[in-house]
Amino acid sequence: MQYLTRRAMLAASALGIASCASAPKNMAIQSYNGSQNMHEVVIIGAGLAGLNAARILEAQGYSPLIIEASGRIGGRAYTLDDVAGAPDAGGIQIGPSYTRFRAIARSLNVDLYDSPYTASSSLFDINGKVMTQEQWRTSTVNLLSETEKHIAPNGLFSHYTRKLATLPHITSWMEEDAQTLDISLRDFLSSYGASHQAMQLIEANLNGSNVDQLSMLHIARSMTLFAHSKGAVSQVKGGTQRMTDAMAAALRSDIQINTPIAALHQDKDGTDIYLENGKKIRAKFVICTIPFSVMRDIAHNLDLERQRIIASLPYTRASFIYLRAKTPFWQEDGLPSDIWSNAPLLGRVFVLDNIPPMLKIWLNGQSADIFDKMDEETAGKMVMGEIERVRPSAKGQLSIVKIYSWQKNKYARGIYHHIGTGQGRALAQMVQNQTGRIILAGEHMARQSSGLEGALESGESAAMHVLNALS
Ligand SMILES: Cc1cc2nc3c(=O)[nH]c(=O)nc-3n(C[C@H](O)[C@H](O)[C@H](O)COP(=O)(O)OP(=O)(O)OC[C@H]3O[C@@H](n4cnc5c(N)ncnc54)[C@H](O)[C@@H]3O)c2cc1C
Repeated sequence: MQYLTRRAMLAASALGIASCASAPKNMAIQSYNGSQNMHEVVIIGAGLAGLNAARILEAQGYSPLIIEASGRIGGRAYTLDDVAGAPDAGGIQIGPSYTRFRAIARSLNVDLYDSPYTASSSLFDINGKVMTQEQWRTSTVNLLSETEKHIAPNGLFSHYTRKLATLPHITSWMEEDAQTLDISLRDFLSSYGASHQAMQLIEANLNGSNVDQLSMLHIARSMTLFAHSKGAVSQVKGGTQRMTDAMAAALRSDIQINTPIAALHQDKDGTDIYLENGKKIRAKFVICTIPFSVMRDIAHNLDLERQRIIASLPYTRASFIYLRAKTPFWQEDGLPSDIWSNAPLLGRVFVLDNIPPMLKIWLNGQSADIFDKMDEETAGKMVMGEIERVRPSAKGQLSIVKIYSWQKNKYARGIYHHIGTGQGRALAQMVQNQTGRIILAGEHMARQSSGLEGALESGESAAMHVLNALS
């Protein structure tokens, strides 16, 4: 049985790789000639994981080739330099425990500063009714149980999940004992008697795919990481992409942009890398940092256990709308500046800046799906109408500056992974046991950190594995 998607199967057959399960048949594809196209190490993906792997390999005298699908370096480190204030559309917050990120930034003179973000109260828009947190408690649309009624809609998730004990250590999520936590968020909430509306509100702006797919093991892992990171959260001056720009500039190795790979086929001596442009290159080792949300459409011959996780690891879907306002009207109407809504086209609205006045709408999960299916002009108008409905002082103030959907980006297909319900054991085995000629890296392969730091950690582990194997 194979777990390659239909798209991956088609890619394999177009390249004559017979689902990648056996050796390539179509030798007419341009192949490597002798040593010229034979590389010691090829790194796929020029995000933080790939760049860090390259940095470490170079320090040991290797010159890996880096292949990047898009025309931009950085991957999910993505600063919108074309938008006023250059907001980050990707990873932004650098936790106090991000030791790798901080050390590399220091060595490359990339400046960090304390994050100005502070949690503020929100204006709530629930089932079409607008209210403050105080008003929510007695609102007719508050159908929460008696024990929940006093909790704000955006506080329900932490109200329940803080009942969960943190794990003994940041790597404990991989241990057998922790797997008892690998149940769905829905089952966990039910076991604590969460009401139907609590479940719906938690799912409305969930940082995860949905309450059925999000494993409590993932939540326990995140809470444990948070508990182990005390101190200030930072951001990169000028945007997170300044970090990946600096890392790329410091490399000697070639980075080939606009070069998507279509298939990978490993054998006992190396890996053939089939490019979408029809060319083929070969490497003794490949470090592949492609998110699994994308990798599942790429033909490969990794073992069945890996195929299974690659095919099914969930990624959170998110779409963003950046809006410019004529004036910072949120400072004038006496209402909380941020909006938290369960309306599909509103989600969460944050103030990005007062000068120039900028707002960001963050839609997750099903809301992002609904938004993505509409044409941008109609969707944009509806979103602005929604803000004006909730906040009349916004009337005539707004214009759309940028729309960005992470799942429409065919080289990301989502913002980050989470452990899917029942996947803890298999993912833990995968990140701890790398074999063969294709070594996987990327934030999804980290053991002891997550996000930006997890990407660096995974690149480091992959590079160390390859260095050991080559020595
Ligand atoms: C909206 C958002 C908010 C976030 N917030 C935070 C935060 O505040 N703090 C935090 O720590 N983390 C955050 N993260 C997560 C963090 O940005 C990521 O974990 C990290 O950037 C991932 O790096 P990576 O190298 O693993 O993957 P990527 O950066 O995705 O790199 C993979 C690369 O592979 C390339 N690629 C894909 N397919 C192919 C192909 N077929 N051929 C060749 N190349 C290919 C891609 O183009 C990409 O450049 C956030 C992410 C997002 C999207």
